Amino acid sequence: MSVIRQDPTTKEWGTIAAERKRRPHGNDQHGETHSSTKESGPCPFCPGQEAATPEEVFRIPASEGTGCSVRVTSNKFPALGEMGGLARREAGPLFREMDGVGAHEVIIETPFHDRTLPLMTDREVADVLIAYQTRYRARREDPRLKYIIIFKNHGEAAGTSLAHPHSQLVATPVPPMLLRRKRRAS
Ligand SMILES: [Zn+2]
Repeated sequence: MSVIRQDPTTKEWGTIAAERKRRPHGNDQHGETHSSTKESGPCPFCPGQEAATPEEVFRIPASEGTGCSVRVTSNKFPALGEMGGLARREAGPLFREMDGVGAHEVIIETPFHDRTLPLMTDREVADVLIAYQTRYRARREDPRLKYIIIFKNHGEAAGTSLAHPHSQLVATPVPPMLLRRKRRAS
């Protein structure tokens, strides 16, 4: 299970999720790209590979009535998990930490492996935005979660580990320091 730990020098909270080291990678952390053959096996986000992803939490059926246009699943290598509380504890002489409670979802934007956002129809883009909105609202119901971000890493240089068009939702119990400061100021 991951933990959320406070940096004693800045008071910023950060997530430590050792589990994520196990996720598949098409490139390393320094932006140095490798060939696409590094992605071994079939793409887990393509139709027919549903068993390779965790349980689906939301879907928008395709307008033709077959398959679906957008699927949302839990992240297989989550940075944060559903279980846990908000109690903070001392972790040695320097650190305060808490359970890595939160949510980490994957929004699979299309069943088509190569159909990135600029290639989608208006209807398909709208479905992606509806999925964002629906999952944001669902996570907002959890009183433990104070910050929800939906983001997308596009391309190897941005650190994406799978080419199939997808976005991620992360919800955390601690907003980033810059937002906390802006809120206090406002
Ligand atoms: Zn795919």
